[in-house]
Amino acid sequence: TENLEIDNVIIGSGYGGAVAALRLAEAGHEVTILEMGLNWEKSGEKFSPMISPGKSAAWLRTKTIAPFFNIFNTKKYTGTLDRWDFSNIKIWMGRGVGGGSLVNGGMAVLPKKNYFKEVFPDLNAEDFYGKYFPLAEKELEVNSADENFLENCSFYKFNKVGEQEAHKAGFKTVRVPNVYDFKYMEDEYENKVPRSALAGEVIYGNNHGKKSLDKTYFKKAQETGKVHIHDLHKVESITKNSDNSYSLEVIQTNTLGETVAKKNIVCKKLFLCAGTMGTLELLLKSSNDNKLTLNSEVGKNWGNNGNFMTGRNFVNTFSGGTGVNHSTIPVGGIDNWNDKEHPFFSEIAPLPMGMDVATSLYLMINPVPKKGSAFFNPISKKLDLQWSADNVALARKNAEYFIKKMNKVNGGTRAHLLFNNGFGADICYHPLGGAVLGKATDMKGKLKGSENLYIIDGSLIPGTIGVNPFLTITALAEYCIEHIISQDY
Ligand code: FAD
Repeated sequence: TENLEIDNVIIGSGYGGAVAALRLAEAGHEVTILEMGLNWEKSGEKFSPMISPGKSAAWLRTKTIAPFFNIFNTKKYTGTLDRWDFSNIKIWMGRGVGGGSLVNGGMAVLPKKNYFKEVFPDLNAEDFYGKYFPLAEKELEVNSADENFLENCSFYKFNKVGEQEAHKAGFKTVRVPNVYDFKYMEDEYENKVPRSALAGEVIYGNNHGKKSLDKTYFKKAQETGKVHIHDLHKVESITKNSDNSYSLEVIQTNTLGETVAKKNIVCKKLFLCAGTMGTLELLLKSSNDNKLTLNSEVGKNWGNNGNFMTGRNFVNTFSGGTGVNHSTIPVGGIDNWNDKEHPFFSEIAPLPMGMDVATSLYLMINPVPKKGSAFFNPISKKLDLQWSADNVALARKNAEYFIKKMNKVNGGTRAHLLFNNGFGADICYHPLGGAVLGKATDMKGKLKGSENLYIIDGSLIPGTIGVNPFLTITALAEYCIEHIISQDY
């Protein structure tokens, strides 16, 4: 076992980790990042499309783990997409340098200001909407598609049909900004450059077009010369030392997940940015092993961001289906948030299967009036969740209302071909909370009762934000690290 002493350690290279790394380095500090996944850019390995899953498809699995149609075998490899299964809920996560940005749909959605205020009553919303959100949008290189392009691009028929049907049913739609470079996509469409979004690439990574974190924050961070990224390094536990430093038990693996080295790292300041599930597992496991003492808020206020997947089969069948080719990058949303009885936002999602399945897919985002909680299960020795049908009751009610209303005027049925009973109530892409800002942590992300330990990731958000969350996670990270640097360094 190798023993190392490092001043600043960041665990995880998703949105929180990327922002923390860049700003610390810009302020003159050396930073070491420990990431359990692969550095894809450095490895030279290619990402694979959804219809022919290769190395990038699944985290150490021999079968694919997409939300549906898992008919493919894969070779065990440290792939980009992981899934943790709990009772009543399955949670998908990104693995690799860039975290969730490698596998996500790139939707960069600003939460509604009123809802942001409701979720974070102690934050100054004006600061966020005037400063941190615009900063996050700039650094993430958020852009929007040209309306003419969308109108004429055959790969966006699914969206056009989705919007037309929503309007017919009386719903309002909105254009959704993204970090995928839409100018690149226009060139893809004209076959001027290699195709990515138009070639079925997304949840196993994009080879082109998508401005994942390795192309934005981490690129800048590496240019400072102060950021050292160690991929295939998994932190197993955190021990608090009497001088308020932290000892990390770390394993280095190969791409088969086999341990090749063990390291003990002692750090002065620790940034826990392992994503909601990773951060909670590390905290609660270390506490269970008596290595760390936690405050009683850790684990509370966990939620699925109201994720509820649903769809409709036999969509637009007589007038021509939803199209053979789907771009993997969503551009449309149905905004029903202001409806008091049925508040929801829904992504009009692509289904890039290379054939016209005349099916519309929706990832709904609902409020989460009843939160769940996370705890360490001493029997399975894993993170566990308290989460039941009660927690998704409102989302289910909204989905029933939405699908019924859509089918009534447009025809179509509940998507029985995609989901057991037409509803994917257990599908979650947006785990949030458990180490909530201002509750488990102070107002800049320092864990209450633990000096020098900061949490900067999705676990700061109390289970709901009303839209896809990475823009908010990035803005919160900018806010937290600014205050940490000015107050604690
Ligand atoms: P992550 O991005 O999850 O990063 C955490 C990192 O820590 C990972 O790289 C992980 O490998 C690493 N890690 C974990 N544990 C350890 C450990 N013990 N040791 C070392 N490293 C560790 N959001 C949107 O806003 N828009 C979208 O369009 C969108 N689409 C999505 C589609 C899919 C399929 C999925 C899965 C998610 C999607 N999301 C989307 C959600 C978004 O990607 C996440 O909310 C976001 O990535 C969370 O950021 P984070 O900083 O909290 O952590």
